[in-house]
Amino acid sequence: MKFVADRMLGKLARWLRVIGQDVTYGPHLSGYGLIREARREGRLILTRDRSLARKKPPDYLLIQSDQFREQLKQVVQACRLEPFKEAFTRCVECNTVLQPVPKEAVRERVPPYVFSNQERFSFCLRCRRIYWPATHQQKMVEQLKALGFGGR
Ligand SMILES: [Zn+2]
Repeated sequence: MKFVADRMLGKLARWLRVIGQDVTYGPHLSGYGLIREARREGRLILTRDRSLARKKPPDYLLIQSDQFREQLKQVVQACRLEPFKEAFTRCVECNTVLQPVPKEAVRERVPPYVFSNQERFSFCLRCRRIYWPATHQQKMVEQLKALGFGGR
């Protein structure tokens, strides 16, 4: 399943990427821009815009809440996603699937304390960010659990 989120749903888009979902998002994505992107790439539209219905969009999910936690819950339930199945496999910034990278390869690219304390690293080929499991990831897991999504 692939998504395109309207420009009001930035935080939701990032959280969907955290749980491994393919989501395009950007300031140009509203109204007909959103519809074009959805058609071109076969994506489900996520929108807060009730007037979109008049523009004859393909499949869309009208997001009810303006709170990202409720939004995430709605999408997970409506699309039967499994939040922990593919969590942390996608770049939150640019939506690219992350590649595992050997520890030695990142020695010069991460802070020394990170290098000595982490064993597993992954890399975004597109924006060249390096990811590693760390406290922020643990906090995200806790937030997901607080939403009632259950553990791995
Ligand atoms: Zn990236």
